[in-house]
Amino acid sequence: MSFSLAIIGRPNVGKSTLFNRLTGKKLALVDDRPGVTRDRREGAAKLADLRFTIIDTAGLEEGASATLEGRMRAQTESAILSADGILFVIDARVGVTPEDKYFADLVRRAGKPVILIANKAEGKVGEAGAYEAFSLGLGDPVPFSAEHGEGIGALYEALREAL
Ligand code: GDP
Ligand code: MG
Repeated sequence: MSFSLAIIGRPNVGKSTLFNRLTGKKLALVDDRPGVTRDRREGAAKLADLRFTIIDTAGLEEGASATLEGRMRAQTESAILSADGILFVIDARVGVTPEDKYFADLVRRAGKPVILIANKAEGKVGEAGAYEAFSLGLGDPVPFSAEHGEGIGALYEALREAL
């Protein structure tokens, strides 16, 4: 059985774009509307010589109905439980939000290997947010751009250590 990583983070940080980037597929639905990925998706990921399974999750949609919110929270928690490790994603352009802290707490409590990805860090705009991500206490953030494919080398190094 291959090592599995759950992609965790609040809506709109780029989880599904990361999923697509690592699986080379368009399986995960990418949408400008937060929380649009409502179903759990699994895919075979490949990064250079590394092979692993990744699980895309919805995150928690702000303003969602209680039921929907509950379902998404449950989905996130079950993905954290079932995976061997976690790819925790924040938006480097926005920086660390209270929702990020909420998810970081869930992730920390799982006691599993975590790779902290500061996504949308292409160009200079992402630097401050990537720096802020240190405060989550989940280790060194990996500056990344799922959309532009930047930071692949750093992610590869982090994965090699975690896998
Ligand atoms: P999710 O809700 O966490 O799954 O986020 P999505 O993958 O659906 O992406 C949300 C929005 O962020 C979409 O408009 C993406 O095109 C955009 N996005 C994703 N990754 C990046 C990135 O690396 N840089 C920038 N600038 N935008 C990105
Ligand atoms: Mg998504």
